Amino acid sequence: MSDIEIAQQASMRPIIDLAGEKFGIPAEHLDPYGHYKAKISLEYVNSLTDKTDGKLILVTAISPTPAGEGKTTTTVGLGDALSRLGKKTIICLREPSLGPCFGVKGGAAGGGYAQVVPMEDINLHFTGDFHAVGVAHNLLSALIDNHINHGNKLDIDPRRIQWKRVIDMNDRALRKITIGQGGPANGYLREDGFDIVVASEVMAILCLATSRADLKERLGRIVIGYKSDKITPVYASDLKAHGAMAAILKDAIKPNLVQTLENNLAIIHGGPFANIAHGCNTVTATKTALKLADYAVTEAGFGADLGAEKFLDIKCRMSGLKPSAVVLVATVRALKFHGGVAKDDLNQENLAALEKGFANLERHLHNITQHYGLPCVVSINHFTFDTDAEIALLQNKCESLGVKCVVAKHWAHGGAGAEQLAQEILHIVDNREPGFSYVYDNELPLWNKIEAIATKLYGAAKISASPKILAEIKALQAHYGHFPICMAKTQMSFSTNPNAKGAPSDHIVEINEVRLANGAGFIVAIAGDMMTMPGLPKVPAAERIDISDDGVISGLF
Ligand code: ADP
Ligand code: MG
Repeated sequence: MSDIEIAQQASMRPIIDLAGEKFGIPAEHLDPYGHYKAKISLEYVNSLTDKTDGKLILVTAISPTPAGEGKTTTTVGLGDALSRLGKKTIICLREPSLGPCFGVKGGAAGGGYAQVVPMEDINLHFTGDFHAVGVAHNLLSALIDNHINHGNKLDIDPRRIQWKRVIDMNDRALRKITIGQGGPANGYLREDGFDIVVASEVMAILCLATSRADLKERLGRIVIGYKSDKITPVYASDLKAHGAMAAILKDAIKPNLVQTLENNLAIIHGGPFANIAHGCNTVTATKTALKLADYAVTEAGFGADLGAEKFLDIKCRMSGLKPSAVVLVATVRALKFHGGVAKDDLNQENLAALEKGFANLERHLHNITQHYGLPCVVSINHFTFDTDAEIALLQNKCESLGVKCVVAKHWAHGGAGAEQLAQEILHIVDNREPGFSYVYDNELPLWNKIEAIATKLYGAAKISASPKILAEIKALQAHYGHFPICMAKTQMSFSTNPNAKGAPSDHIVEINEVRLANGAGFIVAIAGDMMTMPGLPKVPAAERIDISDDGVISGLF
């Protein structure tokens, strides 16, 4: 059965009932969006402040391959397994982006018997948060051009505007556009472009904001560009945009509550990409889950070099969150791919390739345990083609590194299939104080922060940049030197070359662009060719998606 067919057979409970029964959330603090989705009021979120925090468990993975890894699936499976063991658990996930949903990836609500539901809603619009983020972003864009049109009192240099427009679609034709065509009545002619919504700084801000006041202040701090003196920043607050932007986000700021196939609670809120943004759900969602539950399981996007790095060095640093353990998801298929096996041959046993590809897992493991000082369990997301010999090889190799490696079968069996993983995680988190170390200190200069990430985690020999980029980093250092770095790099490799599989070493990480995200509070360092507006593949997933006359959706994987 396909993921969507399994999801459509789920016996969902009304979300208000479930939230009340399991966690005592009063119905008046839940805004229902139909029967199976609800937003949690901020008043309720704030009322939980004095409660003790549960334990935070991060799910991350090896470098992704077309073979698929299964972080979301594992997050759901582990959450359901912990609940089966009688532990009060909530999982926290990101909201899927419509772009990849119609592109290569399909849905992003887990898979098999480890899914969150209603999966069609979660994958398509959900509670409208991304729409709100896009509109808030584009309001600021409109205010900028309107300001210039009406005399440009702020002296904005139209050639130095950094604030583009956004849409939640993969549409390469919008990457570079010209706006204001058709003469003076239509405004000022200038070059512009679109990013995907999940790359918007508004998304990052929503995910890091701790209150409505903090949200508004961060929105006001956005630097949209510079004045004609080339150096004086123009802020969103100069355009008096932040109040209206925060108003548009009035509901988007509230965490969304849904359930898993096994009727356990999931908070799905916020969704920045992990390759071009910081890649994790909102701080509000994670904090709420920790207040309500004894265990919160959350996913960070793509491989541990991107998602986990930014989860730890940005999200946890800014919010004071302290994870207790990490689950590193790997699949036999993906490791064989890292070992050089072609995509079509991944279902055949190949111990030599598996052994070779293990280098990728080993590097991620080393980074998590040695550089972040976090205990880690390797979870093999079991595929039906995996052979006993392959599993044994993987387990032996992990054991020789002193790390537990369990086979998890939640995709096929739901929470019951991940109980061993849950037991191993409980054993760790119940016996240690939460905490970890960062890969770089706040005080380190921006350049050295980028260097620390590249050399320590990516295995690079060094980083490099053109004199122009070096000068830009130097200029940013003066005012924003204390900011963390949000690396934008291909998710496919430790290097900037997506085809360099396994664990490439001694490569050079070229920084091609730096962007100030003053509202989010980080510097985006773009390494290699990164697209902040993806394109659709030759055969988009959209071609398979359909809806029947009685409203049943198919093809969303
Ligand atoms: P990630 O979060 O790492 O991107 P997901 O958990 O979303 O990965 O899984 C990606 C896709 O792979 C989903 O469509 C899911 O159904 C499929 N998948 C995950 N685990 C398995 C498995 N063990 N066997 C078969 N398909 C799987
Ligand atoms: Mg995922």
